[in-house]
Amino acid sequence: MTDFDVLVLGSGPGGQKAAIAAAKLGRRVAIVEKRHMLGGVCINTGTIPSKTLREAVLYLTGLNQRELYGASYRVKEEITVADLGMRTQHVIGREIQVIRSQLGRNRVTVLQGTGRFLDAHTIGITSEEDEERKVTAEKIIIATGTSPARPGSVDFDDRTIIDSDAILHLDRVPETLVVVGAGVIGIEYASMFAALGTKVTVVERRERMLEFCDLEIVEALKYHLRDLAVTFRFGENVAAVERRGSVALTILESGKKIPADCVMYSAGRQGKTAELCLEAAGLEADTRGRITVDANYATAVPHIYAVGDVIGFPALAATSMEQGRLAAQHACGEPVEGLGDLPPIGIYTIPEISFVGKSEDDLTRDKIPFEVGISRYRELARGQIIGDSYGMLKLLVSSEDRRLLGVHVFGTGATELVHIGQTVMGCGGTVDYLVNAVFNYPTLAESYKVAALDAMNKMRVIARLTADQS
Ligand SMILES: Cc1cc2nc3c(=O)[nH]c(=O)nc-3n(C[C@H](O)[C@H](O)[C@H](O)COP(=O)(O)OP(=O)(O)OC[C@H]3O[C@@H](n4cnc5c(N)ncnc54)[C@H](O)[C@@H]3O)c2cc1C
Repeated sequence: MTDFDVLVLGSGPGGQKAAIAAAKLGRRVAIVEKRHMLGGVCINTGTIPSKTLREAVLYLTGLNQRELYGASYRVKEEITVADLGMRTQHVIGREIQVIRSQLGRNRVTVLQGTGRFLDAHTIGITSEEDEERKVTAEKIIIATGTSPARPGSVDFDDRTIIDSDAILHLDRVPETLVVVGAGVIGIEYASMFAALGTKVTVVERRERMLEFCDLEIVEALKYHLRDLAVTFRFGENVAAVERRGSVALTILESGKKIPADCVMYSAGRQGKTAELCLEAAGLEADTRGRITVDANYATAVPHIYAVGDVIGFPALAATSMEQGRLAAQHACGEPVEGLGDLPPIGIYTIPEISFVGKSEDDLTRDKIPFEVGISRYRELARGQIIGDSYGMLKLLVSSEDRRLLGVHVFGTGATELVHIGQTVMGCGGTVDYLVNAVFNYPTLAESYKVAALDAMNKMRVIARLTADQS
């Protein structure tokens, strides 16, 4: 008999939910975690610290209140890293307690140390304190996540030339910052530091950023960021990043040189598989450290599963959790429905973006006729009350059967509001539901009704014109 029925490698969102799901099904479960802290990248260096930092920035700068109280409004004049770090540490500490308590309540054994395969059913666990111990399990779920990629041409020193892990440990708010890579992580931090008053330059090798988002909303975000003194350098490749005394110099292939107090390199992440000795289990990773899985998250070795960032796209805490739960259910022989096909995307820039379903570009490319309904927060009473005049919600509605095909939100509460659209879409709802529903007033949720009426009115005009012709 093996030591455990299910053994999970990694305590990030994927690993936690896998362990808890298996424990709920009555299995003997252990979770192996390399760090002394539970929670993975999500709690310790990624999602939770960055989102808490954003909240601290919004509160202390008073940015969201300036439309009402004037451009000079601030809660605190000199914002220090200590002010920002305090809130982050508080939330991280609480979240770790919640995870520890959940794992404990569900009788999941936590084994501290770095795990590696000795064979397909045996994991060796090494910690600083102890010699390698061997643990066997019937099923194994790999949820070891990723770490920031560190190209050799960049002279990282974790002070002036940093990645997204080290940005949480800066000793002061930089006056100037270069962000290399306008992906989600890069642009979220660019907007936070711009809100703090840092002069930010974003360097991106592609001509556009956030290509998977609605173009109009990305344009609105760029406008806001430029207003906060962000400079964009699109279509530019970084040749090298060098340290010159206390300054970091970003040298572009085009010959431009950008000096800054700090450079954050945010250009991709690498799967954490190097230490796993995958070959001992008959597995391998690709060049980016990622593991291939099937629709049930099983690897090429059927009793070994992989979930979360280590399997690649979409690499979100939100999806990692669900993958963990589904993999555990499959491993325990339970029926599995699969990940829903309407995952929302949330981008916590300032202002934030969220969407679900198709974009205008997708529908145009696929020749699916649609109508657009727009609501602007400045036309909503709640928008006036909170001082958000730029926010907007856009509905994409099928011209053929009036179903909702996509929802795109920009501005306050976007990442929460999107779920109303997700629910309507998930239940196959049409724009008529939103037109006829009564929403609380004054709310931002009301934007759904306003946008639905807008789409409906446009469709009515077209229907009338078409009827006149026939
Ligand atoms: C700056 C930033 C912001 C983000 N913001 C968001 C967001 O707003 N929303 C969102 O949904 N997602 C966000 N993400 C992504 C999210 O953090 C990840 O998708 C999520 O953490 C992945 O979970 P995971 O379980 O796959 O792995 P991880 O959270 O990476 O956890 C893996 C764990 O495995 C451990 N481990 C590794 N190797 C071993 C080993 N050999 N033995 C034992 N343990 C090991 C690691 O120590 C780690 O604790 C963000 C990420 C970053 C970096």
